[in-house]
Amino acid sequence: MSILIVGTITLDTVETPTKKVEDVLGGSGAYAAVAASFFGNPVRLVGVVGEDFPHTYTDFLQTRGIDLEGLTRVQDGKSFRWGGKYTDDFNIRDTLFTELNVVADFHPILPDSYKDTSYLFLANDPPQLQLSIIEQVPNPKLVVCDTMDFWINAEREALDKTIERVDILILNDSEAKLLTGESNLLKAAQEILRYGPNRVIIKKGEHGAISITESSFFSAPAYPLENVVDPTGAGDNFAGGFMGYLASVDNISEGSIRKAMMYGTVIASFNIEDFSINRQKSVQFSEIEARYRELQNAVRF
Ligand code: AMP
Repeated sequence: MSILIVGTITLDTVETPTKKVEDVLGGSGAYAAVAASFFGNPVRLVGVVGEDFPHTYTDFLQTRGIDLEGLTRVQDGKSFRWGGKYTDDFNIRDTLFTELNVVADFHPILPDSYKDTSYLFLANDPPQLQLSIIEQVPNPKLVVCDTMDFWINAEREALDKTIERVDILILNDSEAKLLTGESNLLKAAQEILRYGPNRVIIKKGEHGAISITESSFFSAPAYPLENVVDPTGAGDNFAGGFMGYLASVDNISEGSIRKAMMYGTVIASFNIEDFSINRQKSVQFSEIEARYRELQNAVRF
């Protein structure tokens, strides 16, 4: 089944304790689309870049089979730029700058060929933009949304309207607390379920992720990794891999959702092993399956 991803496609500057890279391919939409593309379903990407955006990056996305009909390139516009710095052995990430540039004035009209999308993923983006995409897809089977502190702080009212319309909200632990004012994650999740989604998935970084509905609880471990190079985009990879698997089996049962969380976890674990999407360029599906089986064994008791 087809997946539609809307999210940012960015030029990132990332500083880790050992290295700094500038203007590398990043963005919630780009990371999620690459992750989803491992499963071989058609992946459609909606986003915007400026004229400064290297063609090599968009060419790469196309080599992954990602449909870029929904990508707008604004002449005379500047691409979204984000800078982040990791300290304390990757435990802390400070955002150094967020320049929305062309994203601030982006009002996408979906190509007709995207309107039959079944699996819709709203990666981190302005909430009004996320909502406008929901309104343009008439019959989605599943609508999943990610958000982050930046949008919770800047666009709360619009974000509430978006959250009300989605099936699953994915966010990390600190964002769940920020959104609800609850310090206990289970209470935060219960509160989010009252906002509209029927499931909330909370990412806890190196401690895995949990899924909560009114009647179920599931905890997925993180893949144990010694070689952490750059965690940027791990959350987007998790969500993209999650969607990619669900669309490939075209099933949203509790069992499939749990497997999808495991695939998302595994795909994110590869992304962390290099900067930008570099590691994903060489990952084979057989390697994904091998780590998936390792995780299965790790939690069997
Ligand atoms: P993650 O590490 O999963 O939080 O994702 C980091 C990616 O999200 C980077 O490639 C950034 O360019 C992108 N990003 C950072 N801030 C925002 C934002 N406010 N909205 C959308 N995307 C963002």
